[in-house]
Amino acid sequence: MTLMKSWVASANSPDTQFPLNNLPYGVFSTNGTEPRCGVAIGDMILDMAACEAEGLITLDEGGAFDLPCWNDVMELGPEVWSQLRARLIALLKEDAAEPEAVAPFLVAQAEADLHMPLLVSEFTDFYAGKHHAMNVGTMFRGPENALPPNWLHIPIGYNGRASSVVVSGTDVVRPNGQTKAPDADMPSFGPCKRLDIELEIGAIVGTSSALGQPVSVAQADAMIFGYVLLNDWSARDIQAWEYQPLGPFQAKAFATSISPWIVTKAALEPFRTTTPEREKDLLPYLREPSPMLYDIDLSVTMAPKGQAATTIARTNYNQMYYSAAQQLAHHASSGCAMTSGDLLGSGTISGPEKSERGSLLEMTWGGKEPITLATGETRSFIEDGDTLTLSGAAQGDGYKIGFGSCIGTITPAVKFPE
Ligand code: MN
Repeated sequence: MTLMKSWVASANSPDTQFPLNNLPYGVFSTNGTEPRCGVAIGDMILDMAACEAEGLITLDEGGAFDLPCWNDVMELGPEVWSQLRARLIALLKEDAAEPEAVAPFLVAQAEADLHMPLLVSEFTDFYAGKHHAMNVGTMFRGPENALPPNWLHIPIGYNGRASSVVVSGTDVVRPNGQTKAPDADMPSFGPCKRLDIELEIGAIVGTSSALGQPVSVAQADAMIFGYVLLNDWSARDIQAWEYQPLGPFQAKAFATSISPWIVTKAALEPFRTTTPEREKDLLPYLREPSPMLYDIDLSVTMAPKGQAATTIARTNYNQMYYSAAQQLAHHASSGCAMTSGDLLGSGTISGPEKSERGSLLEMTWGGKEPITLATGETRSFIEDGDTLTLSGAAQGDGYKIGFGSCIGTITPAVKFPE
């Protein structure tokens, strides 16, 4: 696949994250206007509500773009998603019939505020990166017992909170919580001291499954609407004390950031790749009939307040042991109904090298080996005022499919009410 040319000049630059091949879906507003659906193209946004009002885009099955979320479109399913993409390409391609009819509805990204692109129904987070699971397991249980006995058979997950999923650019308040130092008799309560990121990709479920009705991995793949970058902020000291036996609770409930543009499966199609070789055969209900993972370069930067950012990790989504389709099929396997708007976090994405670790817990080996930033400062975990930015892009031949950025700045913990 090569670059598809558009009459929107900025979309043809090899550096843009949003060529015609991409067309990711977001929600935007400009001064004093209501948030509504938009599509990124080059450095512009196509105002979908305006295009709909002018009759330039109509979905056969109904659906609306004058809304602050894409959920209506998501529910319509894969045929409508394909029709919509085909129509957008027809309107925006280099030899489009009437560019002058569409041009008035382009808004400069520089003048727009971006909002949550969807209403998140529920949020589930997985633990499906093998290098991450090995690193964390080695730290806590030693290399022989690093992987729990179920890990090679089940995509392990926990049910998280949709209420605290926020869009890139939203500040994150350092959580308070209960912790216990290993040598202390009693736990204490106060601001988290070991605040961390988790570099993840979020899969967005487009079509629902019925209660009591499992889905195959192929059906699960068809249900997925698209992908976003996801930062599963984690309070390691709170997590260490609370997590057994039911898994993380408050340690991961305070915030999850996502990037503002939903990159569709269609845009990522040329970058499909297989999950790594199985070390143990999977049970039939989890086997992938075709490649369902993607080759997406990922990176993380950290910037102390008012200072330059340092890249602290580079890795790739192709390192996941389980794909989002496998995770979704597993999630529905009990008969759990999956809902349009559900968000599934991949689990922390780490590669085999030290420079490829997707959390500070791993980068600093539990805080024992602080990293040094370009500013000369060191960090074991995140300090107040630090800004963490996740970026991601699939690299095509002369173009890329970018995800935009997933940015969050940490603000001080609030004083607990008396
Ligand atoms: Mn996570």
